[in-house]
This record gives sequence, structure tokens and C-alpha cells, in this order.
Amino acid sequence: NADTAMYHAKDSGRGNFQFFTPHMNVAAQQRLMLENALRRAIDNGEFELHYQPIYDLRDRSITGLEALLRWHPPGRDSVPPSDFIPAAEESGLIVPIGEWVLREALKQAKAWQSAGRPLFIAVNVSASQLARSSFVERLRHMLHHTGIDPALVELELTERVIVEGVGESRSTLDQVAALGVGIAIDDFGTGYSGLAYLKRFPIDTVKIDQSFIRDLTVDPDDAAIVTAIVAMAKSLGIDVVAEGVETQEQLEALQRLGCHRAQGFLLGRPMSARDIDKLLGAAAAAA
Ligand code: C2E
Ligand code: MG
Ligand code: MG
Ligand code: MG
Repeated sequence: NADTAMYHAKDSGRGNFQFFTPHMNVAAQQRLMLENALRRAIDNGEFELHYQPIYDLRDRSITGLEALLRWHPPGRDSVPPSDFIPAAEESGLIVPIGEWVLREALKQAKAWQSAGRPLFIAVNVSASQLARSSFVERLRHMLHHTGIDPALVELELTERVIVEGVGESRSTLDQVAALGVGIAIDDFGTGYSGLAYLKRFPIDTVKIDQSFIRDLTVDPDDAAIVTAIVAMAKSLGIDVVAEGVETQEQLEALQRLGCHRAQGFLLGRPMSARDIDKLLGAAAAAA
């Protein structure tokens, strides 16, 4: 977002302006400023993870949490991931940022595990992160270092990541699975990628993209797609989670269609680890 990028140019020192020549277009300048700001953000501790609960609809229990990255540039409103993940991916900065995310999420999940709350933690992983030759070794080291049960960790990948990588991603995902870590397909149904990979890759979970949930109760096509995904996943032994559930009607429709796990603003927004603690405390007190 242009506003954010412009702001960071001002406080990033004069030196940065030497890059801007009249030949460089405004979009390229803004992208460069955004990248510079992101580069400093890790060292300055400007990132935070929020956690969104994932529910079992049958008993309304929280089964896990998805870690979602938040960026708080100094003196500014926080910037949503959609505004900076693409720049982070194109610049390669997603590799160190993603490494920070993974380490932070595992530490937090271990803290919950140690407190007697063994919830699984789902972490989004980008294509370039997974493609790094040391990815599995780094993951193995982080699991060992934090002492978290690998069965409590799930990596969320998009179909694009899997299909574009094919050979390498197959071997990487086999190694991830061998560590005992789960693999989920995020935004499932949006990748135009065919379905054959679901049996060739070690997939544990598919997350139905929120675009199919939005009009679930009014558009019979969406209901048909959700029904088909649930049936297919069931026969392949894959779990299904619905994303972006915002209304009670959507929730009831999902249950009728046999989808028993969901996340969305209706059930719980992404929140800080402290707020998750409060939520879990309240749930335990109510039980
Ligand atoms: P995603 O992994 O599909 O995450 C779900 C997004 O949907 C989150 O947006 C979440 O806040 C939002 N959401 C949850 N429930 C609802 C709902 O009921 N209605 C609506 N309209 N939205 C809902 P967020 O946090 O802005 O993240 C956007 C995307 O950025 C994520 O989509 C993911 O692709 C990416 N992302 C977030 N954190 C990371 C990260 O640590 N690493 C990487 N590589 N990507 C990340
Ligand atoms: Mg996700
Ligand atoms: Mg998604
Ligand atoms: Mg498996």
C-alpha cells in the first residue's frame, strides 16, 4: 500500500533516495521502500503472530489455531499480510520472515502444550521458503529445539506451491511428513490444479477456500462444490476445514453437508496469544 511505503521512505534515511531516478516509475519506488521497511522489520521486532481458533463444530471445541502474521510499523496502523506478503515473496524476504514465523509459532505452541493445552498449530509456508534446500533440516532443528510434539504442527501450503514444485516439493513434503508434521492445502479449490496430487502427496487436511463458503446458503453451485470436496476428502482419508465462516446459516449448512471443522469471524477472529489464553481459560471454566 502506497501510503505505508511512502512513510517508510521518510524515516529510512536520505541514502535511500539515491535509488530513485526519473526513469524509475512510482510503483517501483514504492516497492523498493516497502522492501527496505520489511528488511528492517525483523530486526526491529515489528512482527507479531495472531492466532485464529479452528473449531470442531460437533462440540464447539477448539482443536487448533492458525498462526497469522501481523506487521506493526513504528507509529503506524498495522499492515495486513495481503499488503506485504507479495513484496516479501518477490524480494526473497519471505524466507527470513517465514523462518521467524515458524520459530515463533512453535515456541508459542510449546508453551500451550506445556500448560496442558495441546492444540495443534497451523503455519502458512510460502513456495520460496519450502523450496530452500535447508527447509526440512531447519524445521527438524526447530522441532527438536522447542521440544514440541510434531503431531501438533501443520504446515499450510497452497496448491500452486505443490504443483509448481512437483518433483522437489514431493520429496520435501515426504520428508516433512516423515518428521510427523501435518500438511494442509490452503485455499483449496482455487488452484485449478486437478486433484491427482491429493493421493500422490502426503496431505492431511484441505481447507476449503472462503470464496466457496461466502454464498454457500444462496448459491447451489457452491453447495455442490463443498459437498464434492467433503465426499472426496472423506474417501481419501483427508480432513476438511471450512475457512471464512461468518454466519450461523453458513455454519449450519456446513454441518448438514458433513463438514465438521471450521474457522471464521463467526467463531473467533485472529487474536493475540494473550487473548487466546483468556479464551481457553473461559472455555475451560465453562466446561
Ligand atoms: P490464509 O492462510 O487463507 O488465512 C486466512 C485469512 O482469512 C486470514 O487473513 C484471516 O484473518 C481471514 N479470515 C478468517 N476468518 C475470516 C472470515 O470469517 N471472513 C473473512 N473475510 N476473512 C477471514 P489474513 O490474516 O489477512 O492473512 C491473509 C493471507 O496472508 C493468509 O491467507 C495467508 O495466505 C497469508 N499469510 C498470513 N500469515 C502468513 C505467514 O506467516 N506466512 C505466509 N507465507 N503467509 C501468510
Ligand atoms: Mg492459511
Ligand atoms: Mg486460506
Ligand atoms: Mg499424513
